Amino acid sequence: MSTADMKLVVVGAAGRMGQTLIRTIHAMPGVTLSAAVERSGSAFIGRDAGEIAGLGPTGILVTDDPLRAFVEAEGVLDFTAPAASVEFSGLAAQARIVHVIGTTGCSPADEARFDAAARHARVVKSGNMSLGVNLLGVLVQQAARALPAAGWDLEILEMHHRHKVDAPSGTALLLGEAAARGRGIDLESQSVRVRDGHTGPRPEGTIGFATLRGGSVIGEHSVILAGEGESVTLSHSATDRSIFARGAVTAALWARSQKPGSYSMLDVLGLTA
Ligand code: NAP
Repeated sequence: MSTADMKLVVVGAAGRMGQTLIRTIHAMPGVTLSAAVERSGSAFIGRDAGEIAGLGPTGILVTDDPLRAFVEAEGVLDFTAPAASVEFSGLAAQARIVHVIGTTGCSPADEARFDAAARHARVVKSGNMSLGVNLLGVLVQQAARALPAAGWDLEILEMHHRHKVDAPSGTALLLGEAAARGRGIDLESQSVRVRDGHTGPRPEGTIGFATLRGGSVIGEHSVILAGEGESVTLSHSATDRSIFARGAVTAALWARSQKPGSYSMLDVLGLTA
C-alpha cells in the first residue's frame, strides 16, 4: 500500500459482490481497503474481511458503524440493497466522499435521494459497471436509431442466477434506456415488462423484456432487433463478477478528482455521445 492509495470502504462486504470487491481492491494498484461494513446483528461483524473473501487475514475487521468508516475513507463501493444504498448515500454525503452505487432495483424515490446526496458526494451509479455492457449500450443506441421502429421490433432478454431478487435486471433496464434514447422515446411508457394469456398482437414501437432465472448464471443479456425476414442480436455474457468490481474501482478512482454530482459509467469510461 502506498500513502497515495485511495482508501475505500466496501459495504455489504460478505455478499457475492462484496467479497469480489475486496479481492479486486487487493489486486488493483492505487487503492486500499480501509473498512468493511455489514448490517448490525450480522454474523460477520468482527470477522476479518480478507478471510471472508478468501484472501487470508488483512487486519480489517467487519464493522456495523458505516459513518465512522466513511469519514476515514475517500470512497465507498456499494452493491447491497435499495434501502441500504439510500442510507449509505446520506452518510457518504455527510462524509463528502465518493459513493459508487451498483445496487439495482431502486425506485424513483430512491433515485431522488441519491440525487440529493450528490449535492455533497460524488456519486457514480450504474446498473452495470462492466466496460463490455456499457459499450453494448452505445451499440444498442446506434442500432435502435438506425433500424426504424416501423418494421423492427426490439426485445431484451436476460438470465441471472436463482438468488437475484429484482426483475428486469438493472442491466436490461440500462440497455432498454439506451434503445429508447436511440429511438427518441420514453422507456417507462413504451416498455412491455410481462406477457401472459391473450395479449393481442405486439404494439409497434414498444420495447419488450423477458426474464429468465436459474442456477448460478452471473449475467446474460441479448438485445434482439427483429425485422421482416431478418434479425440482429447484440449480446453480452458475464462469466466473472470481477468485471463489475474492476469497473467500480475504476469509477471510484475517476470520481476522486470530480466535483460533487451524479455520474454514470459512460462518464467514467468516456463513452458519452
Ligand atoms: P448479495 O450477495 O445478497 O449481497 C448483498 C450484501 O449487502 C449482503 O451481504 C447483505 O447482507 C448486505 N446488506 C444488505 N443491507 C445492508 C445494510 N443495511 N447494511 C449493510 N449491509 C447490507 O447480493 P449481490 O449478488 O452481491 O448483489 C448486490 C446488488 O448488486 C444487487 O442489487 C445486484 O443486482 C447488484 N449488482 C450490480 C452489478 C452492477 O454492475 N451494477 C453487478 C452485480 C450485482 P444481508 O445478507 O445481511 O442482507
